[in-house]
Amino acid sequence: MADYYQILGVAKNATEQDIKKAYRKLAHKYHPDKGGDEKKFKEINEAYQILSDKSKREQYDKFGRVFEGGAQGGPGFGAGGFDFEAMRDKFGQGAEFGFGDMGDIFGEFFGHGFGRAERKTDIKRGDNIQIDIELPLEAVLKNQAREIKLYKMNTCSRCKGTGAEPGTAVKECFSCRGTGQVQQIKRTFLGSITHYTICPECKGEGTKPEKPCNVCKGEGRVQGEEKIKIFIPAGVDSNQVIKIEGKGDAGIRGGESGNIYVRIFVKKHPVFKRTGDDLHISVPVSFSRAALGSEIEISNLDGTKILLKVPSATQSGKILRISRKGIPHFSGFGRGHLYVKLDVDIPKHLSRKQKDLLKQLSEEGL
Ligand SMILES: [Zn+2]
Ligand SMILES: [Zn+2]
Repeated sequence: MADYYQILGVAKNATEQDIKKAYRKLAHKYHPDKGGDEKKFKEINEAYQILSDKSKREQYDKFGRVFEGGAQGGPGFGAGGFDFEAMRDKFGQGAEFGFGDMGDIFGEFFGHGFGRAERKTDIKRGDNIQIDIELPLEAVLKNQAREIKLYKMNTCSRCKGTGAEPGTAVKECFSCRGTGQVQQIKRTFLGSITHYTICPECKGEGTKPEKPCNVCKGEGRVQGEEKIKIFIPAGVDSNQVIKIEGKGDAGIRGGESGNIYVRIFVKKHPVFKRTGDDLHISVPVSFSRAALGSEIEISNLDGTKILLKVPSATQSGKILRISRKGIPHFSGFGRGHLYVKLDVDIPKHLSRKQKDLLKQLSEEGL
């Protein structure tokens, strides 16, 4: 799905009034009752829900579309206790994304591509970092806040990212005489071609520290540990990617930082099966309870007890739907259902008394 601002066709700095106006116009145009596109209508509504809410919009601007589900560190966040594995790894080409801003991502990864001039910001930019996070199914019921330690390039605290030893100056680069570019002349049979590339000495900056910082050797960044808070909204599913802007490797000498991409893996549950946001479970019911009808208590994924009414004459394989007891929708609004399949249990071992009673039932034609 496109960016919320793009969906509503408004600028990033649009006023509340602009957003409202754009929403009304689009909602009118795409309303399914008027033969509009239902999917588009849903997108428009989702975008409006976020952008019309000041705090949700702020969060969206900061973290991207994935954080719409919950407030940062708010009371809705799970207390933890789930196993949580994070692994750092750099994104390679051809990485797959469940969603996200593809344009952005491709721009970042293939930006140095064929036919495009190198930009100095590309050279100085810090790398993106990918983290894989594995969650048990229970964890997606609530927003999760997790703190992880990450080894990454951080801005050098001694020189504050300038690369110059404190108290010393930053001077014009000798190699490129301050232009940031160096000229290369290639002679071909068509004549000579002048080619400009970024000065390798100053990384296009045009300046160099007179005396490189003792700690970072002039790079303006050092390898170190940083604690990163990751907010995982309820309802996430495997292969969804959460982007944390500007928290990747620090750039060289004050260059732009990379991003962190958190890829989610949700583990299979031994009892509950997930399809979309619905949960499925099979529950055994004794023959007599199924025939006469009864109430049975089951435990939902979050541990809450649900009293289930088994109607009389229930056939094996009957599925009961319990509304809105499934997984919360990722959008933050509503949740899926819980489906309970009743398996009528034929006993494998019988007591003498049970055998006698069943014999009597058999004589009654059951
Ligand atoms: Zn330094
Ligand atoms: Zn230079």
